[in-house]
Order: sequence, then C-alpha cells, then structure tokens
Amino acid sequence: MLEYYDYIIIGAGIAGLKAAETIRQYDVSGKILMVNGEDRLPYKRTSISKRLSAGFQKEELALKPAEWYEKMTIELVDGLVTEVLTATKEVILRNGRIRWNKLIFCTGSTPIEINPMLPPLTGLYYFRNAEDVDFIRSQNIVNEHIVIIGGGVQGIELIEQMLSLGNKVSLIHHANILMNRHFDEFMAGHLLQLLKEKGVEVFLETKVKSIQKTESQVFEIILDQGEPLYCNKIIVSIGTKPTVDLAHESGLEINNGILVNQFLQASHPDVYAAGDVAEHPGGWITGLWHAAEKQGIIAGTNATGQECAFEKTTFRLKLNFFDQYYFSMNPQHANIEIDEQILHKGDKYYRFFFKNNLLQGVLMMNDKDNAKYLEDSVRKSADRELIMRVFA
Ligand SMILES: Cc1cc2nc3c(=O)[nH]c(=O)nc-3n(C[C@H](O)[C@H](O)[C@H](O)COP(=O)(O)OP(=O)(O)OC[C@H]3O[C@@H](n4cnc5c(N)ncnc54)[C@H](O)[C@@H]3O)c2cc1C
Repeated sequence: MLEYYDYIIIGAGIAGLKAAETIRQYDVSGKILMVNGEDRLPYKRTSISKRLSAGFQKEELALKPAEWYEKMTIELVDGLVTEVLTATKEVILRNGRIRWNKLIFCTGSTPIEINPMLPPLTGLYYFRNAEDVDFIRSQNIVNEHIVIIGGGVQGIELIEQMLSLGNKVSLIHHANILMNRHFDEFMAGHLLQLLKEKGVEVFLETKVKSIQKTESQVFEIILDQGEPLYCNKIIVSIGTKPTVDLAHESGLEINNGILVNQFLQASHPDVYAAGDVAEHPGGWITGLWHAAEKQGIIAGTNATGQECAFEKTTFRLKLNFFDQYYFSMNPQHANIEIDEQILHKGDKYYRFFFKNNLLQGVLMMNDKDNAKYLEDSVRKSADRELIMRVFA
C-alpha cells in the first residue's frame, strides 16, 4: 500500500507554509505533507537581500521554529518532488511514491537568465535562495567592481549590501526609470539621485548584448549602447519566471505560470497553485511576498472544501535604501480609471490614487510611521476627505 496524505504541498516558501497552516485551521486531523526543496526551515526570503553583507545563521530567518511543525502535525520533508501523476493522484520524491487527495503547487519562481546560452561563468551570480547568500559570501567580495543587472527591489537592495562591503557598484537597468513596476518618475528620480550620491554608476534604458571574460579574467559586458563595461563580478537580478516544469510535465495547463481560476484551482479539480507560480485570470502573476501569503491562505482554505476567491488587488512593496523609505501600492496594473492627488511635505511624498473619491492605491516616501495606516486605508478604500484630513 502506498503512503497516503490528504494534502501534499510542493514547495515550502511563504505560500506553502500559509497553505499548510490554513489547512490545519479547517481540518484538525487531515494528514499534511509539505515538501521542502531547500536546505533549511521555511524562511523570510525578502530578508536575504538585506542581509548579504552581515550574513545570518542557518535558521535565523526561519518563519516558524521546528517544533511548530510538530505541534501542528505538519510533516515537513526535505527534497524535491520529481514527478506528479494527476491521473492516479501520486507524487514521486526521493523516498518513493505517495498518494494524495489534494495537491497544492507552491513552487515559486526561478531567476530569469541574462542569456540562456551563456555557459556558467565563475563570478556571475543569480540570487534567489539563502544558499545563494552563503555562496556569494564565501566568495569574499570586497573592494571589487560589481555590476548589478536589474534595477528592481532586489537589485537595489543588493547595491546597498555591495557598497557596504567597500565595492564599487554599477547598475544596468532596461527601463527608463528604476523600480518601474512599482515607482513613479518622482520616486524613481529620487532613488536615482541617491544612488549617484553614493557613487553608483547607473545605466538606464540599457540592455546587455553579451558578456565574456577577458584573458585577465575580468568581465567584459557589451551594452546595446556606449562603451563596454569591465568588472570583477556580476549579479543578475532581472526578474523571475514561475517554476512550472513539474506542473507542465504533469499535464496541467500552463501559460507563463500554472493557470488557475479565482479559487486558485488548476486545470485538475484537486490541484491548486499559489504564490509566484500561479497565473491568475487575465495573465496576472503577482511576484510579491504578501500576495503569495494571501494565496497560500486561499488555496489552503479551498483545498479543505471551503470556497474563497482571490480578488485582484494591490499589494504593498517597501524599500529601505540607506536612510530613505519608499512605499508602493501602485494600482496601475488594475487598469482602473483613477484620479490622483500629489502632496509634498518636506522630505515626505505622497501620491494618492482615487476612484470615485475612494482610495485605490498610494505611493509614499519617508513616512514610515504611517505605512500601515496607508495600507489599511487602501484595503478599506478610504474616503478622499478622510485621507486629505490626515495627510494634507
Ligand atoms: C532577494 C529577494 C528579495 C525580495 N524582496 C521582496 C520584497 O521586498 N517585497 C516583496 O513583496 N517581495 C519580495 N520578493 C519576492 C518574494 O520573496 C516572493 O514573491 C515570495 O517569496 C514568493 O513566495 P512563494 O512561496 O510563492 O515562492 P518561493 O518563496 O519561491 O518558494 C518556493 C519554494 O518551492 C521550492 N520548490 C520548487 N520546486 C520544488 C519541487 N519540485 N519540490 C520541492 N520544492 C520545490 C523552492 O525551492 C522554494 O523553496 C523578493 C524575492 C527575493 C528573491
């Protein structure tokens, strides 16, 4: 007889953890197995790019201690699921074949390669996992010239880390503004100025054409404009793609991510997908921590037989860069008719997005104390009058 679980969760990131926790809330006795593809307890992934220079102990960023899993009777097993059989409802992993009743894919996403044809090059790094931090730290990168490719949140955080280790840093970004998915021109311009003040050389609207190593083992980066760039190390941070190979091979419907309906159900009725790996109706892939957390809760809820929908909404992103605080709940992806109001107060900046005088989103700088209030106000669609009374 094959071993059997009521629920198997593939991937122990934030989506997987929240799915397991939520299932346990609704189903006190169902057998839950979470398959962990990494070398440590599920951890706060968003912290790793802030801790590259200082480092961290193996379980320091753990979201829950080991005893929590025992207490919740959630079995956490190390290794990778190598095959999913949807017809017989089985998975295959290192220690064999296991049957499931409900399966949740929480396999997250994988860094996009700068050039898939490029052979692995010593000194060129991708950055996704805590293990990547351990590896990069082991390379002892100090007083070197580092090029970071990609001016999103991860790339910007890595710049601060690399500067703090005494490195010279250059940044190459494809768009005309930094953090273009989340910031507006004003915030991006502010950040750009700050980078320049810190001595960072920034190339906007620039693409990498090729990368090679010279005879003296220095990287030569050919750009689509201007002179080549020479450096000692490269960190590529140009975004991620959903980790779908396993789901694809199992016959589930895939586009860029695993296609799910509003209940996060995939093309098989007993299979769900949550977090970075899920592609929602209309082609939306969230790629953010709180969005993955929320989806884990919803997929876990629905796997137990409840019915809970994932609504299209705006999730927050915050960025601390040196002593500056940037906050974004940018609703522009939602394609809604909005009107805006901008306020500048000293070094604080607010851009409010309203629909019918109800708050739909906000961009903010340097008012960290009010970040939670603003987030709640967007969630509650607060009235324009109230917002203006508080902030104007
Ligand atoms: C450095 C960095 C900084 C970030 N900063 C921010 C930020 O400031 N704000 C923000 O909102 N978001 C940020 N993000 C994005 C955020 O971390 C992700 O959106 C979130 O972690 C997605 O969670 P997830 O559970 O869907 O996937 P993941 O966290 O990617 O977890 C998926 C897990 O599944 C495992 N897995 C994959 N395949 C298998 C398999 N076959 N078998 C078993 N396990 C498998 C993987 O190893 C991984 O552990 C950042 C990401 C990174 C990498």
